[in-house]
Amino acid sequence: MDDIVFVGDWVKDRVLGSGSFGIVVLWKHKHNEEKLAIKICKWGDELTAKHRERWTKEVEMLQTCNHPNIVCTKHIPSEFDTGLSKANPSKLPILCMEYCSGGDLRQLLNKPDASCGLKETKVRKILNDIGSAMKFLHTYKITHRDLKPENIVVHLPNGMPEASEDKVTYKIIDLGYAKEIDSNSICASFVGTLQYLAPELFYSKTYSNSVDFWSFGLLAFEIICGTRPFLPFKAPVEWMPFVKQKLHENICIYETFHGDIEYSNEIFLENHISKPFKALIEQWLKVALEWDPKLRGRDSPSKVTFNIPSENKGTSITSKVIIFDMLQSILEKKIIKVFCVPTITNVSYEISDTDTIDNLKRWITKDINIPSEELIIISRSHCNEIGNEEKIIEYWNENNIVLFIYDKKQMIPEKISPIVPIAVQRCLEHPKALYNFKNSQTLYRHAFFFILTQMESYDSLITALFTRSESLKQESKQLLIKHNNVDKSLGKLLAKLECIKAMIKVGKKHIEDLIQKGTGTNLLGGFGKIFKDSNDLMDKVDKLTTAWSQLSVRLQSAARRSNEGISKDLDVFIAKYNYQNIFSKLYTTFISYNKSDFYNNNREKEKPCPDIVKVCYDSLKFRSRTLQELQHQQFLLKLKDVSVELSKIAGIISTAEENTGRLHTDLTILTEQFSTCIWSTISVVVTEADIISDLPYSVVSFEKKDFKIEGPVTNYTSPHHNYIQTNGNSDVAKSLVTESLKLRQNQMTLCEKLNNQKKALQNSLEFDFLYDDDSMN
Ligand code: ADP
Ligand code: MG
Repeated sequence: MDDIVFVGDWVKDRVLGSGSFGIVVLWKHKHNEEKLAIKICKWGDELTAKHRERWTKEVEMLQTCNHPNIVCTKHIPSEFDTGLSKANPSKLPILCMEYCSGGDLRQLLNKPDASCGLKETKVRKILNDIGSAMKFLHTYKITHRDLKPENIVVHLPNGMPEASEDKVTYKIIDLGYAKEIDSNSICASFVGTLQYLAPELFYSKTYSNSVDFWSFGLLAFEIICGTRPFLPFKAPVEWMPFVKQKLHENICIYETFHGDIEYSNEIFLENHISKPFKALIEQWLKVALEWDPKLRGRDSPSKVTFNIPSENKGTSITSKVIIFDMLQSILEKKIIKVFCVPTITNVSYEISDTDTIDNLKRWITKDINIPSEELIIISRSHCNEIGNEEKIIEYWNENNIVLFIYDKKQMIPEKISPIVPIAVQRCLEHPKALYNFKNSQTLYRHAFFFILTQMESYDSLITALFTRSESLKQESKQLLIKHNNVDKSLGKLLAKLECIKAMIKVGKKHIEDLIQKGTGTNLLGGFGKIFKDSNDLMDKVDKLTTAWSQLSVRLQSAARRSNEGISKDLDVFIAKYNYQNIFSKLYTTFISYNKSDFYNNNREKEKPCPDIVKVCYDSLKFRSRTLQELQHQQFLLKLKDVSVELSKIAGIISTAEENTGRLHTDLTILTEQFSTCIWSTISVVVTEADIISDLPYSVVSFEKKDFKIEGPVTNYTSPHHNYIQTNGNSDVAKSLVTESLKLRQNQMTLCEKLNNQKKALQNSLEFDFLYDDDSMN
């Protein structure tokens, strides 16, 4: 095989992998982008009939399995039949597959950053894809029997080296050991790769498709924690007796630092999955990692309550396979991930479609002990504060942190200790301690996890500060809009006030005149209170406008400061304070450990681990120094000031808005009272005028349409004159006329005044009308 480099237009690229029987090679077409993964059996005459049958079966089975999460077979180009004949001594069928460019899952798990498992998004995707493929195989009564990370490949769209997780597909390969079995039938051949094999394959001659549940559980645990659940440093014969003793609830068995064996109902804490997802998947792992193959993957919770259905006898209780549906329902649950600035940690919660931001605040309050009214929640994408009534679901995103939580009272915590894994704590307390291989591996893995998560928290913190700065810009913009609205309303209030001021002024003057003349004072009582109320109102408006203009200046200044942003300062800061050096040191330390003689050849020895101890120490020192520095940065102080200032201004604007509204109402009431008072007075006067029935003309004519107040009085008085003259009763008539003229004179003065009042009132009404029109524009 090695000497064959070209087959027709195909060029051999590289060996993708090689197992016990096959060798898989990547072939590329010379003239187009086509790539193929071709698997050939590497043996010849040594093969037994059973091997030959298994191989042929794999090729046939893969060709019939059409599922997006099972590697798809391709029609082999004819040139390979002859071209590879020399490299295919067994003459067994060649398996031609689509090429999956992301490597296999083992390669992914071998990366240092996966030493404590993969990120939740990846975990979910793998569980979804592999669950779906396994369900498919089991539906068609095929048991894989060799499910393990090496037999899962990563398909990247168009061979892109980096693709967003939802575009990546995980596919099962290697059906070499798969066998079609009836779910009730039992296979009796011993196959598979030891560490992932279900225990019954070791101690029993018979087994069923539930062996795949075990391997799937093991695989799930490993992708979450980076290590297998049951004594991963021991060979199956060694771990078997311990695992046999485990309870249904036990999903993990590990050796402590001092070599004691512990059983646990939880997965290891050093993982990258959220708390709610961890709790759910732990329940599922109990089902998958059940020791008893007849109970495994099924809905009966424990051996005590379970009644195994028998094939022939009718049973009252039947259990059903729930492993796939249970997993699916877990994966459908929505979990919101939030970064908490006050604690520099992530928190996450399972949410329903109806949960509100207010609910979220209350959950967070429970977790971080800050009252919910002190919390601000800002969406990362919109950079604005989210109202309590909004639904969390609107912001939910499966893959990322979408929300940031801030404490109104402080930007970043004064001092907050990180959660340090026990292995790291121990190495810092005893830097010269000796480690056996197992403990050293735990230390290196947990140290990598610790520093990686510290680095991510720091990134989140920086992003959170940037987001806060952007949100303050938005906040100041919104405040300016609100300010302008209140300002308009205040303007209208002032205009309205001007109008009533004028009316009051005229009213006051007339009343003063009347008081001076001592005329009608008994009718003017109501005006006194109105004038006093109007003075109070004017005072209030004066105070409001003074405070308002001061606030406007404050807002302008805060808005200007918020618009300056902090991104430049933040960039300068992170250029100086970042984990780059620590991380590259960590990476090289981890790699050189993996390449070390201790790791590869001399696992029996005990050694100190000074290199990783130093990286851990440096990382902690860096963390506390950075947080301390950050506290004193001008941009952070500015952020805090602006945030406090904007929140104060927001409060003041709201109060001003309320007060303006109230004063508008007061002014309207006052205008109405004033108008009522005037008209009441007029009514009284009119009533009195009616009583003086013999007047030559009456105030009543004030209401007549043809009455012109400016017109000469004689126009209206002439008929009466004539009457008096023609009667010629001189003395009585003379005194009557004198009295009448006097009265007329008084009425004229009153009329004039009332007319002035009327004009003023009409002016005010006209103004109001215009004013309303204006507000509609
Ligand atoms: P074996 O039966 O010998 O275990 P596999 O079919 O598991 O052979 O393939 C061996 C390795 O080759 C896999 O672990 C994987 O790394 C790689 N490989 C197999 N098929 C593909 C493929 N279609 N695309 C990319 N890599 C593959
Ligand atoms: Mg394989």
